[in-house]
Amino acid sequence: MQNQILADLAKGQNPYATILSCSDSRVPPELIFDAGFGELFIIRVAGNVFSPEVAGSLQYAGRHLRTPLFIVLGTHALRRGRRSARHALARQPAAFADSASG
Ligand SMILES: [Zn+2]
Repeated sequence: MQNQILADLAKGQNPYATILSCSDSRVPPELIFDAGFGELFIIRVAGNVFSPEVAGSLQYAGRHLRTPLFIVLGTHALRRGRRSARHALARQPAAFADSASG
């Protein structure tokens, strides 16, 4: 079973959600959402600090992976993370619209 999943994932990925999360070791997204290989596209940065790399990863998730769901997972940096996600997605309205419709 696991070998077949890994063989399928070698051909490509189709995660159902993109998660912007703090790197905090106490909040591993895969464990929180009981997710396996290929199910989540996760961007983790200590403190959810916004950077060009974070923006690029969010844009990649919207434009190329077309994940239909974006989640900002955090506690202490929630407002900053939401602002970062909105900023990145606002710069790629076509990608976000594609994700919403597909
Ligand atoms: Zn944190």
